[in-house]
Amino acid sequence: GAMLRHLTRKLRASGPVTVAEYMREALTNPGQGYYTRRGGVGESGDFITSPEISQVFGELIGIWYISEWMAMGKPSTFQLVELGPGRGTLTEDILRVFKQLASVLSKCDVSVHLVEVSPKLSEIQAAMLTGGKVQPNPEGESAYMKGVSKTGIPIFWYRDIQDVPPGYSFYLAHEFFDALPIHKFQRTEKGWREVLVDIDPEVPDQLRFVLSPSRTPATQNFIQAEETRDHVEVCPEAGVIVQRLASRIEKDGGAALVADYGHDGTKTDTFRGFRNHKLHDVLSAPGTADLTADVDFSYLRKMAQGRTATLGPIKQREFLKNMGIDLRLQVLLQNSGDTATREQLLHSYDMLMNPEKMGDCFNFFALLPHHRLVHPDKKDKPESKSPLPPVAGFNELLLK
Ligand code: SAH
Repeated sequence: GAMLRHLTRKLRASGPVTVAEYMREALTNPGQGYYTRRGGVGESGDFITSPEISQVFGELIGIWYISEWMAMGKPSTFQLVELGPGRGTLTEDILRVFKQLASVLSKCDVSVHLVEVSPKLSEIQAAMLTGGKVQPNPEGESAYMKGVSKTGIPIFWYRDIQDVPPGYSFYLAHEFFDALPIHKFQRTEKGWREVLVDIDPEVPDQLRFVLSPSRTPATQNFIQAEETRDHVEVCPEAGVIVQRLASRIEKDGGAALVADYGHDGTKTDTFRGFRNHKLHDVLSAPGTADLTADVDFSYLRKMAQGRTATLGPIKQREFLKNMGIDLRLQVLLQNSGDTATREQLLHSYDMLMNPEKMGDCFNFFALLPHHRLVHPDKKDKPESKSPLPPVAGFNELLLK
């Protein structure tokens, strides 16, 4: 393919590249990247995500934002900012909940801000959310496109989180961080080495992994002295984005909800590819398969640098249970007349909740202002304070 030719030319000219550089090229190269050209999400794509499996998933996330908005004293305006919205299904389900709860949100000025690098996917999102009511913005505007949702809410598109205007914001990143480029490191007898991608000298047009002959700048920066694993993956771009989210929440208020598969700093080699819903060799036919690595939540927590409080990671099945998925399922089952719909509802519930499926490996993680969890004024007698409402999802949802 064109991407492989582009990469082999580059590798011949300037030598092996880091896995991060390889992943960035394969996924988001402006001409040939996987997300740029195809997008891959959905039943007909290469992988299927929770919002594509069941509308209940997005509805419960919508309720999470409303519940946090209420707990934070119902500010008069907020931005919903989604990173990597895929086909736009999750935002669509959230906006449906906002519409259903319009009486609660009536005096609140809501806008939607989507951070999306893929022109192909931004088109699909625009069709899904606005029914095509969008217009490109002139060069020099921070948003590259704008429109109005079917429910009447303004929507803006950006390439980078830094372009999103400041202001009280609820952030959402579902299966976003796992698509960002990782560096890979291997412990050897001579110390830590970075895993690089090179051309296989034996087989034409085939790529292979090699180890850097000495330490690289990344090994010095990203491996902790106390590291006990023999193989480590680090995603510096995820770290930078979490830093930005944490600074923005500290300064302007709001919250961030991150949902992804991942671990808490314990796993080693998780880099893998998907094509047509099957595992795919990460080095073969770059640009035609989704490449992904588990999110290291311990790293995200560290990169919040104490600017915000963090909650989680908590398993998806516990989060959704706390959000009331069982009750929601019962209501939908009661309201559905035919057996096929009921079977579909039960099947999608099982996909989301079963520990063997998505229930255990997917996690929820949140960034919240410190004052959301601890009363800011510690001088006051604690007993004189009304207790802060628990954060839904990480605790049971209490709707008042
Ligand atoms: N959240 C969606 C889609 C997940 S796929 C869902 O759960 O169904 C990953 C998404 O992130 C895609 O929309 C992809 O185009 C986008 N993406 C990948 N790298 C990105 C980057 N560096 N900046 C912004 N968006 C990116």
